[in-house]
Amino acid sequence: MGAPWSIETVELAEPREDEVLVRMVGVGICHTDLSCRSGALPVALPIVLGHEGSGVVERIGSKVTRVRVGDHVVLSFDSCGQCRNCRHDSPATCFEFFPRNFTGKRTDGTTPIQQNGALIHAVFFSQSSFATHAIAREVNTVVIDKDLPLELMGPLGCGIQTGAGAVANSLGLREGDSLAIFGAGGVGLSALLAARALGAGSVIVVEPNEKRARFAQELGATHVVNPMKTPDTLAEIRTLGGGGVNFAFDTTGIPAVIGAAVEALLPGGVLGMVGGPPPEAMMPANLMSMLFRGVTAKYIIEGDSNPQTFIPKMLDWYRAGRFPFDKLIGKFPFESINEAAHAAETGDVIKPVLVF
Ligand SMILES: [Zn+2]
Ligand SMILES: [Zn+2]
Repeated sequence: MGAPWSIETVELAEPREDEVLVRMVGVGICHTDLSCRSGALPVALPIVLGHEGSGVVERIGSKVTRVRVGDHVVLSFDSCGQCRNCRHDSPATCFEFFPRNFTGKRTDGTTPIQQNGALIHAVFFSQSSFATHAIAREVNTVVIDKDLPLELMGPLGCGIQTGAGAVANSLGLREGDSLAIFGAGGVGLSALLAARALGAGSVIVVEPNEKRARFAQELGATHVVNPMKTPDTLAEIRTLGGGGVNFAFDTTGIPAVIGAAVEALLPGGVLGMVGGPPPEAMMPANLMSMLFRGVTAKYIIEGDSNPQTFIPKMLDWYRAGRFPFDKLIGKFPFESINEAAHAAETGDVIKPVLVF
């Protein structure tokens, strides 16, 4: 829960040479925003959160070359562009991922937002897009075509990219492969949509909430399993998958679920994880069992995506009618940000998007 958000007037600086000023049109609420509000993920306060923004570029810094005034853009996460992983097209594991996305300040300690002379933490994911205007960097600003519904595009920059990228990039699912997804929130359902776009075989969704489970079926899950009504979920997945699954994707962070997910894998299988675990939790899997099947378990950040190439790829799927991510979205006026957050927490809306 945490204290509700308040909407206030602040002063926003001009963009620096490598930055862009974006007028927001829409912004998604991601689980990470809610975790920062509740304190589960501590951030320096006061801060402007928001990291799934979409909008129109109003001004650019002198060294910006790829983005122009008037461009329609989706804002994503920041990366340094210099480190070993950035140079190998893996910005989601940038060595500076944490300081650039979570500290609420630029790497030189400044922020572009003040209120009556006092510093306000900003540049959350180098955007802080719960605002009418945001300062982003060229590296996390992705230009999209102007015929797309701009106000719905923001979640491609984090939550949807996280689930879809996990399946497409991190797991490398191919046509006919089977997948078990644990948790049918925004990230889990985005993984499902990507699995369908890639021509997956069986996709088994494990979800206790009946409404979400039904929605998963509408979106193309071949089977749904309610773990509250199915005492041996692992046995059920093995039965439905014909012995097990090629891939598993955990969004829950619950150690017992992760342990079952590892055991559900067929030889050579891979488990991807994105859920926040309890702070003291260790990997809950039997190593000998992993050895004998040659299985892999790994944590995934932002779907191992490079937003500059993966967002266009998701948009190609969307245009072809193979990736209807807009079905996950419920729109709210920006002023109703707390109602939108509540709808996300209760599960009434999978992915709230605030529109301006
Ligand atoms: Zn880097
Ligand atoms: Zn996010």
